[in-house]
Amino acid sequence: EHNQVLNFAAGPAKIPTAVLEKAQSELLNYDNTGMSVMELSHRSKTFGKILSEAKANLTSLLNIPDNYEILFMQGGGTTLFSAVVYNLLAAKGKPDAPVDYCVSGSWSQKASEEAKRLGANVNIVFNSKKSTGSYTTIPPESEWKLSGPDAAYVYYCDNETVHGVEFPSVPTVDPSVPLVTDMSSNILSRKVDVSKFAVIYAGAQKNIGPSGVTIVIVRKDLLTPLQSASEIPTGGLVVPQMLDFKTLADNDSLYNTPPTYAIYMSGLVFKHMLENGGVDKYTEVNDRKASKLYQAIDNSKIYKAPVATGFRSNMNVPFRIYPEPLEAEFLKGAEARNMVQLKGHRSVGGIRASIYNAMGEDGVDALVAYMKEFEAQHQ
Ligand code: PMP
Repeated sequence: EHNQVLNFAAGPAKIPTAVLEKAQSELLNYDNTGMSVMELSHRSKTFGKILSEAKANLTSLLNIPDNYEILFMQGGGTTLFSAVVYNLLAAKGKPDAPVDYCVSGSWSQKASEEAKRLGANVNIVFNSKKSTGSYTTIPPESEWKLSGPDAAYVYYCDNETVHGVEFPSVPTVDPSVPLVTDMSSNILSRKVDVSKFAVIYAGAQKNIGPSGVTIVIVRKDLLTPLQSASEIPTGGLVVPQMLDFKTLADNDSLYNTPPTYAIYMSGLVFKHMLENGGVDKYTEVNDRKASKLYQAIDNSKIYKAPVATGFRSNMNVPFRIYPEPLEAEFLKGAEARNMVQLKGHRSVGGIRASIYNAMGEDGVDALVAYMKEFEAQHQ
């Protein structure tokens, strides 16, 4: 009826069909306002309800404790690379304090480079590409070079979208040091203990909704009053107002016009997830989806998954096909079967199947069946 494809895109990515249908049914006349959500004032009561319901539903999905704020920001995950540096150094009150970066893939690498560019005292805890030649594993914590309690924060990317490297658990760091994580590509995919973190952030366009909004979950004690240049010691960073967590928190993400439609869509996804068993259920299904796919790869002679067992992502499954010219043929055959956007990131090549929450187990089954069929034809 919808003529939909199986969309394995890394992001913007598939949104649950039921959510798109709900949005479609409300498009022209939202809640008897006679207009669409896109046309509503962000200060209206109706939008206020959309915002507060989205926050309440995200809070129940992730069991977010009372001492955290949820912010809806703009500028994507990339803007948070900068915002984290400004806000956490301001919270530390020491502009030259070391900031610790775990580099496990290209997104954490970019984040560390931005921190350096902004003048922060960056300490690389590890860089798995430098130590092993590729982003395919995470070194044991015994080899990490943490700065200890002096650090303004420890930063890591929970799931590296391009390389398909996911942390198996939350790293152990000094409990007095704020822990910051980029969960852009795995937020809500598995259970997480929010109380371990100072900041969790995620662009919505992978595991939640459309692009344009970034979810930020920040511990309240880190919200620091905005300072002016004269109040900052030499070499310090003055936080741009729109990147300031406290400004956004004090104004319930309505300091300026927020991305209203993206917030509305995200809220629909949160509600849909609660109606479908919540994060516990998604964790179970995601584990099953990923193991089916990795098993199909490991049990074959032509497919190979580069990431070490134990660090393989449940969300982004990169693999190669040997001999490599088969990859183009594989993609063509996939398209003919309505399986699209399977091409690996331009920086690494190969194939990447992104199997976020919205990709059903039947979609993964279809991909596995095609992989077996393709292998049988090319042995
Ligand atoms: N972090 C991760 C883990 C990502 O996958 C991405 C985008 N692919 C980003 C950050 C950057 O996000 P954006 O494009 O929203 O700035």
